[in-house]
Amino acid sequence: TSSVPGHPLAPGATLGVMGGGQLGRMFVHAAQRLGYATAVLDPDEASPAGLVSHHHVQAGYLDEAGLHRLAQVADAITTEFENVPAEALTGLAERRFVAPAADAVSVAQDRTKEKAHFTRCGVPCAPNALIETPGQLADVPDALLPGVLKTARLGYDGKGQVRVADRAALAKAWDELKRVPCVLEKLLPLASEISVVVARGADGAMVHLPVQKNLHRAGILAVTEVGEGVVPGALAQQAIESTRAIAQGLDYVGVLCVEFFVLQDGSLVVNEMAPRPHNSGHWSMDGADVSQFELQVRTLAGLPLAAPRQHSHAIMLNLLGDLWFASGAERTPPWADVLALPGAHLHLYGKASARPGRKMGHLTFTAADAAQARTTALRACGLLG
Ligand code: ADP
Ligand code: MG
Repeated sequence: TSSVPGHPLAPGATLGVMGGGQLGRMFVHAAQRLGYATAVLDPDEASPAGLVSHHHVQAGYLDEAGLHRLAQVADAITTEFENVPAEALTGLAERRFVAPAADAVSVAQDRTKEKAHFTRCGVPCAPNALIETPGQLADVPDALLPGVLKTARLGYDGKGQVRVADRAALAKAWDELKRVPCVLEKLLPLASEISVVVARGADGAMVHLPVQKNLHRAGILAVTEVGEGVVPGALAQQAIESTRAIAQGLDYVGVLCVEFFVLQDGSLVVNEMAPRPHNSGHWSMDGADVSQFELQVRTLAGLPLAAPRQHSHAIMLNLLGDLWFASGAERTPPWADVLALPGAHLHLYGKASARPGRKMGHLTFTAADAAQARTTALRACGLLG
């Protein structure tokens, strides 16, 4: 059982988060709903989370004074993005309860460490090789081609990765990626992609959201669907067990999302993990009675973790900045028409300017069954253009 000093934190305490993007914003909303004050550290004066938080420490992630200030105002601190410098979390942890811990975050920051952890937990990942030197590049086995070359660190939304057909393309891609440490993965024949969000408390208790089916476009999540019949039961069970093992193996505290590939032969392969709530779990705000952000708050404050119950079939559509330019000129998408659809839940992140590929918000459709949710989601797509 947990022996975190000061836990549980009573409402009225202040919860802090490193990073002020949309994930931080939804964390802040969830924390405030439970009666907590919030503090966000982010260098951007107009960060989505900073705009809605009680405190906004406007500083860089390694800024000593900023980190000191955050630790002063916040009773416990989490992170909303995996690339927060691990040393910042280590420093904060000397003064405050920090979850997830720097060690766990640093595993998720590095594809090599991440894959080693998956393997240690007995969860298979794509065949791969580390490429840090020209010698390792030359030694890549033929069996890994065609493949995907990914930077070991700092990749997201399909950035920092290149598909390579052969050795010539591989060498060119590594040059393009500035010869930073990379992982070459075999290109797998995907049937689908799924993910699991798990929350683990400091006492080791775990709960999870139902398995999510994800569709990516150009490397960015586009659609998530969750509900009966979306993912076959045996596969879902296997994904949940693997995710729990991965969290347990890290002695993880907080919300963790693990992404998987389902191969055409029906087998399950782990792709990557995120040490925080995940885009594919956003549907839980509207389709389940406990959201991934409330789970994040509960793990941080040391509150009991209630197992979320999905009450509606859910389809989430990401709203990328491209939608603001769909008609050629910049426009505001037709929100009123979209909101006229039954079960439409609009979330906009308060970002001042739209850019192609930028995550501006998401839209979740909830319904009593899959057919209804799909019908309204398709109508929304028609309206959004
Ligand atoms: P990111 O950190 O950008 O999300 P991912 O490793 O998850 O990077 O890759 C993004 C997407 O690219 C995946 O969701 C999947 O659609 C595709 N992809 C990545 N690796 C492979 C692979 N080894 N085989 C087939 N498709 C892949
Ligand atoms: Mg991914």
